[in-house]
Amino acid sequence: MTLQRLKAKWIFPVDRPPIENGLVEVSASVITAVRVADRNEAATDLGDVAILPGLVNAHTHLEFSRVAQPFQPARPFTDWIRSLVAYRRREFTPNSTVQRDALSAGATEAESSGTTLLGEIATSGWSEVTLPTHGPRIFAFRELIGLRSEAAELQIKLAEEWLARNGQSDRVTFGLSPHAPYSVSPELLQGSIELAKRFDAPVAMHLAETREELDFLSDGRGPFVEMLKSFGTWPEGGLPTGLRPLDILRVLADAPRGLVVHGNYLADDELEFIAARSQMSVVYCPRTHEFFGHEPHPWRQLLAKGANVALGTDGRGSNPDLSLWKELVFLRERFSDVAPSTLLELGTLAGARALGCEHDCGTITPGKRADLIAVSLSGGGDPLEELITTNSQIVRTIVGGKAV
Ligand SMILES: [Zn+2]
Repeated sequence: MTLQRLKAKWIFPVDRPPIENGLVEVSASVITAVRVADRNEAATDLGDVAILPGLVNAHTHLEFSRVAQPFQPARPFTDWIRSLVAYRRREFTPNSTVQRDALSAGATEAESSGTTLLGEIATSGWSEVTLPTHGPRIFAFRELIGLRSEAAELQIKLAEEWLARNGQSDRVTFGLSPHAPYSVSPELLQGSIELAKRFDAPVAMHLAETREELDFLSDGRGPFVEMLKSFGTWPEGGLPTGLRPLDILRVLADAPRGLVVHGNYLADDELEFIAARSQMSVVYCPRTHEFFGHEPHPWRQLLAKGANVALGTDGRGSNPDLSLWKELVFLRERFSDVAPSTLLELGTLAGARALGCEHDCGTITPGKRADLIAVSLSGGGDPLEELITTNSQIVRTIVGGKAV
């Protein structure tokens, strides 16, 4: 059994205080010890760096990793969706390798920027065989879309086949993503939650992303209806109205794990609803949120209420890169009142919790997987204050004990 000892100036285990001149011991793919290093102990000395748990990027769409820059315009949101749909139709043709290449490039980019676990939305054509042999573990949420009942039936069949693959791969866990309230019928949402329960699988859903979505739910009108009619997917009888995100949250709450992706416009009672349920999380994508010019995100209110808030980059369709570390730097620069230790937890343990694997990763703890990163330290002062800065670099990513 291979034993590795890694020494560093600092170790930030996340679930306990930082350790100066620390050592992490790894046997095969598992952490066996984290402690102060003995002076003359044989170990690989990484030097003036901090070792942290690997980052968890809880929301991506890797298939857009070949997009040169985010889709335009950012607003109105329905026009951004139209650009995205046009790109998929143009690039993801049957003989094209763009989608496969993008999955591979995206996984590599995520790993090199410190991500060891990814929450990924998988559309038709997504396959783990196109991923590089080495890279982050992935929760692949099969995207389900359908507003008409005949579409729902087909989607549920696909979803069942998708979840039946769980256990076949060390690398990929299969979950479901009923896309959003404006693209999924009530039957399809309900059916996907039933399946998730049966297979003990997580569910991720885009929710409360725009103000227009709230109008759509309450009145069944607005730009989403126009867009769906132009796509030819609007059901003749329309959809139920008089709804709000809380009605969707009540359904999502039945999933073994429920990830509310974005949640930009959740009301106070909806934040309370999520905070009261440990199986539910909100995934905040800071730079994507800024790209769309939304109103301030309620992540700090969620944290104050005790909710789990994970972070994501979202895809390159709305973000210039897939670096979760840069999301932390972005937050550090804008919210100097939030403790860096809190940000570090959002980018690691909170993401692991959202995906249901907090017993397995997210902190540097004996018994957990050796998903670790090393980050260069920029100065000689308080290491936590100086950890998350534009100067700090991810110098090493170790997934399950194996370095890149
Ligand atoms: Zn998304």
